Amino acid sequence: MDILIISFSNSDYDRAAQGVAGAGRNLATVLGGRLRAVVIGPGNAAMNSRLAAVADEVIVADQAELAEYQPEIFLQALTSICRDAAPAAVLFGNDTYSQELAPRLAHRLSGSAAGDGIELAVDNGAIRVRRSVYGGKAVATIELKRSPAVLWLRARAFEPAPEKDSATAAITRPAVDLSMRAPTQIIERKSEGAGEARLEDARVIISGGRGLGGPEPFADLQDVAGLIGAQLAASRAACDSGWCPPSWQVGQTGKKVAPGLYIAVAIRGASQHMAGISDARVIAAINIDADAPIFKHCRFGIVEDYKNVIPLLKEKLAALQR
Ligand SMILES: Cc1cc2nc3c(=O)[nH]c(=O)nc-3n(C[C@H](O)[C@H](O)[C@H](O)COP(=O)(O)OP(=O)(O)OC[C@H]3O[C@@H](n4cnc5c(N)ncnc54)[C@H](O)[C@@H]3O)c2cc1C
Repeated sequence: MDILIISFSNSDYDRAAQGVAGAGRNLATVLGGRLRAVVIGPGNAAMNSRLAAVADEVIVADQAELAEYQPEIFLQALTSICRDAAPAAVLFGNDTYSQELAPRLAHRLSGSAAGDGIELAVDNGAIRVRRSVYGGKAVATIELKRSPAVLWLRARAFEPAPEKDSATAAITRPAVDLSMRAPTQIIERKSEGAGEARLEDARVIISGGRGLGGPEPFADLQDVAGLIGAQLAASRAACDSGWCPPSWQVGQTGKKVAPGLYIAVAIRGASQHMAGISDARVIAAINIDADAPIFKHCRFGIVEDYKNVIPLLKEKLAALQR
């Protein structure tokens, strides 16, 4: 049976999308089906041809009604495409559009859904997904009993799909009835951090917590980030305090990141925060409290007031660049 992977045309064929394609290719191989990529949203020829180099078919849904993200209309289009394709599984990334659409799509298709997948397997024809639970303290294996299995997968948890030398897959544009009236209307759109690289793709992250005491110290963290090519992030407490944008939040209800190095500054290390960084290769922490839970998880730790550490760090890093 075929596997469908879903990409939104307003994003790139980035590391997260490559991982979804990789997971899809493996499932398709095991189940003996095709890997079919759906690209939904305004026309994006570059994305179509990248996917044509990894998938067996690219299904493009770029009708005028899909020019702007509208959950009900996108859901209608995906439901129609999936009903025609009758796939064994539909794979999404872990972005906000995917998290919004995937469970609803599973319901419309009378399938089953599971999110934040970190491993996929097939056992006796049944698709199983592994995902972390209880804020990252345990890993559950879930068998998806009803077909199709609609899954959203954690960024970077899967190897990219192998690419063919040239874009060889057929690109099709099925007719989709989008004449429905959306039950909701978007009144206003505010974009945040347009043009910024995605936190999920960052190699190095420096993240601030409530212990910073206010928004100003984030400027110092930004200086350090500039010196080491890092991106800024934050705990929920710092975001909720309005010191930084909500899009910086890392954790159970924020972004799941997988950098090579995660520097946690004045972050306690609550389980809900750690759930977002369980895939970080190296965690370094600066915290004034030697008993802070973050020290149980980090490879490098400095027990000190961040105000004494960050200026020194800045100075040393700047000296290294001279
Ligand atoms: C359902 C649910 C979901 C949640 N989801 C998330 C999530 O996605 N992400 C998330 O982060 N949290 C989440 N939380 C909140 C989480 O439980 C914690 O409350 C939050 O992570 C605490 O943030 P913090 O470590 O910045 O703040 P605090 O817990 O206040 O810790 C501040 C730390 O800074 C240290 N500190 C203070 N002053 C200094 C100084 N001068 N120098 C150095 N260190 C200093 C302190 O010792 C302390 O360890 C969630 C909670 C719930 C219930």
